[in-house]
Amino acid sequence: MSHTTFNDAHTESLSQADDMVAISTPVCEKDPVKVNLLGLSRPELEVFFESLGEKKFRAGQVMKWIHQFGVTDFAEMTNLAGKLRDKLVQVACIEAPEVVHKQFSQDGTRKWVFRVGDGAGSLVETVLIPAHDKTGERKTLCISSQVGCALDCSFCSTGKQGFQRDLTPAEIIGQLWVANQSYMEDVPVGERTRTVTNVVMMGMGEPLLNFDAVVSSMRIMLDDFAYGMSKRRVTLSTSGVVPMMDRLGEEIDVALAISLHAPNDELRNELVPINKKYPLAELIPAARRYLARDGGLESARKHVTIEYVMLDGVNDSLDHAKQLIQLLHNLPSKINLIPFNPFPHAPYGRSSNNRIKAFQKLVSDAGFVCTIRTTRGDDIDAACGQLVGQVADRTRRAERWKKSVAARQQGEILRTRG
Ligand code: SAH
Ligand code: SF4
Repeated sequence: MSHTTFNDAHTESLSQADDMVAISTPVCEKDPVKVNLLGLSRPELEVFFESLGEKKFRAGQVMKWIHQFGVTDFAEMTNLAGKLRDKLVQVACIEAPEVVHKQFSQDGTRKWVFRVGDGAGSLVETVLIPAHDKTGERKTLCISSQVGCALDCSFCSTGKQGFQRDLTPAEIIGQLWVANQSYMEDVPVGERTRTVTNVVMMGMGEPLLNFDAVVSSMRIMLDDFAYGMSKRRVTLSTSGVVPMMDRLGEEIDVALAISLHAPNDELRNELVPINKKYPLAELIPAARRYLARDGGLESARKHVTIEYVMLDGVNDSLDHAKQLIQLLHNLPSKINLIPFNPFPHAPYGRSSNNRIKAFQKLVSDAGFVCTIRTTRGDDIDAACGQLVGQVADRTRRAERWKKSVAARQQGEILRTRG
């Protein structure tokens, strides 16, 4: 595979090295003969500048303008020669996905809905949650990786929409760009700083099923010329796509979270159907392999985070807690209990606080760090997947699913009556 030029944005593709996967050139929606620079990682931008007959270091300069200073107008990039700026105006753009809705909550939570294509269903959301901890003030951004999701977990409103499409790197990093930008609008360019401190890939979609775009975006998050985030503050959450967990381990050092939700195969098959393909006996060793590639002092691979949604009467008993302790005894892990976020027609309820606390106590007493996720931004429905879930609740899968829930409930009513 050879390096490409950017002469024909429609047909050419980018490749950083012979053994790397080609990424199709991202075009600007408003002017499709131009290249959108927003989603290009530094090696990709270097190829782009070389194709213009420029030196590679221009890539770092332009990345700073885009990601650190939030500048989209090439005319403002004062350390580039006038001729280069004119050239860039002709061949490139910096285009973030369109914000169709935003809500800023009293408690500091912010939420955006983006349109990423035609039609009512082509919406994704991003949530920013501020918090204080011993390391100071944190701003955590929950980013989406796909429109919808193919994996159909039974408690997840994104899954109920079905899968529509993968997001591009520009659409993924664009969510971070917009969130940072929202704190900079009134700040002079020279005084702008990067505000978001943490990213979690826990919005809509399964990030490991959009692997290349997600990894490329995470490289931009870690790049000092862009967001310069620490590896430990970028977390990928997966429902357990085992082969892609190994690939992730080979390609990038970021924190890993696993959506476990059940301590045995029988229950997990029901809640997280991908478990039928990659059962616990494969998932737990894959998590261990990921940690075994520990990249030294700064590595994000000291432990995995285990996410466990608390569903009333389904997976929240003390017996489940004991099974969980047994399952994880050999895996360096921190456990995060997530109170279930109800959505219209959901077949589950949220466990009571007492039940969640009793579960937490048992797991903590066994020596695990076990936290309960606090819900924030309730006044703006800022739970991952919720608002878009309501907007896009019209797909065929959602209809089928609603009918099956209704039929099941009807059956239960009849049984109780009988
Ligand atoms: N697909 C990935 C990442 C997106 S989901 C994954 O499954 O890990 C992000 C997290 O939100 C997952 O842990 C998921 O299980 C959880 N989640 C989904 N729907 C939820 C709901 N209704 N209430 C609470 N947590 C939910
Ligand atoms: Fe997809 Fe994650 Fe929702 Fe499961 S929990 S359907 S993997 S987004």
